[in-house]
Amino acid sequence: MKSFEDILRKNNLKITKGRLALLNLLYSSHVPMNTEEIYEAVDKKSLPSFTSLYRMLNELTEKNILKKNLYHNGLYYFEFANMGHRHYIVCDKCGKISAIENCPISEFENIAERETGYTVTNHIVELRGICPDCQKDK
Ligand SMILES: [Zn+2]
Ligand SMILES: [Zn+2]
Repeated sequence: MKSFEDILRKNNLKITKGRLALLNLLYSSHVPMNTEEIYEAVDKKSLPSFTSLYRMLNELTEKNILKKNLYHNGLYYFEFANMGHRHYIVCDKCGKISAIENCPISEFENIAERETGYTVTNHIVELRGICPDCQKDK
């Protein structure tokens, strides 16, 4: 991936400490994060206000640097738009999200295309479960 400065420059966004802190955080997180989680984790010296974080997230999503997905718990989660095709499993109890790198759906897409004559362009699959931590405390 190119440097975050390059990405911001290319999109005519000013390079600010806040934007860099936000992009660094999301990049190192490996799973999508919601606004609250980002605000909890981000370096407050670089990005002190929730309102500016909120504005930044929308702006970076509009520029297609980030993408946001609405998950089942009703919260928006942000990740890099070019993360590639992945699926996630969400814990029913604590809302923790883990990434699943392998996608077995292409097989099913072929079946669907054969059966319906459609060309499949995308699929969204969200798995639900109980994470290992929540399985422990019963
Ligand atoms: Zn859990
Ligand atoms: Zn898939």
